[in-house]
Amino acid sequence: MKKRLALALAFVVSVCLGRPGRVDGQAASKAAPTPSAADHHDRKPDDIFRLKPLSGNVYALYGRGGNVGFLVGPDAVLVIDSQFKEIAPGIVAQIKSVSDKPIKFLINTHHHGDHVGGNEVFKQFAMILAHDNVRTHMLASPVDIQRDYPAQLDAAKKAGNEEMAKFFAAQIEWAKTVKVEDIAAPVLTYDSEFRIHMGDETINVWHMPPAHTDGDSVVYFEKAKVLHMGDDLFNKVIPFIDVSAGGSARGYLAALDKVVARVPGDVTVIPGHGEVTDLAGLKSFRQYIADVVEAAQKAKTAGKTKEDFLKDVDLPAYKDYSGYKDRFKANAAAAYDEAR
Ligand SMILES: [Zn+2]
Repeated sequence: MKKRLALALAFVVSVCLGRPGRVDGQAASKAAPTPSAADHHDRKPDDIFRLKPLSGNVYALYGRGGNVGFLVGPDAVLVIDSQFKEIAPGIVAQIKSVSDKPIKFLINTHHHGDHVGGNEVFKQFAMILAHDNVRTHMLASPVDIQRDYPAQLDAAKKAGNEEMAKFFAAQIEWAKTVKVEDIAAPVLTYDSEFRIHMGDETINVWHMPPAHTDGDSVVYFEKAKVLHMGDDLFNKVIPFIDVSAGGSARGYLAALDKVVARVPGDVTVIPGHGEVTDLAGLKSFRQYIADVVEAAQKAKTAGKTKEDFLKDVDLPAYKDYSGYKDRFKANAAAAYDEAR
């Protein structure tokens, strides 16, 4: 249990910051102790952005945290994910560099702090939309943090990890003082799917089976043939499966299959983390998840204990994926727990 927490923790702070919906990303993002290049958590505020025009006025924007996507429509701009609070003004500036249209919509793909931290900025001018569970997780975050973080603060202090200790202390302070009504949660939430129509573009928002969390959305721009996967896709990056927020290894397979069945072969794919890719990239990630699930199932069927399985399990084909050392065993543990 302790080990699982530690693994989850390292990742939470380095990539998927913010446990349930921490919305002030400032202290958190500064504290990121083990950033990896693919996650862009380690760049200075002034050199973090990379803008990649895709088809049909859709753009991918790499910054620090979950990759942003946006569409410039005839009258307005729609944005997907907001990274961190202190990064959000930079995101807005990047958008303004290609369009002076007002930013009217922000879709959150899920509740993690590296995807919703900038909501506080965006809520001043945009309507924030997400799956029902995103709002639920975000509103619950002060309680969750006050329950879970004091022990982790102690552990960080004991381990002499000053940065982590500072991060947890700041989170606890925030959780104690924030008013639930001030949390920049989505104001329009949905259950299974919805569409937004902007000019000749149709933006499809689909809820996924529980995968990264239980509140995952993917966004598909029908005319541009661009798909934003949120954290249901980590491209050449080992994912985090947030079991505590309803995530599931098997669910990842179901989610990926659902998406693959609904998009064309020449789709362009923006992952939550890693570089923009295509259908082949999506399928490689599915193969990774399938391999983890299969290894866990084999071990369980053979009567191996979880401990023995985790000691031995190794998938060398994915060793060059960012985060293999930090998160692979946690993925395997999640898959073992779900094996029948
Ligand atoms: Zn995430």
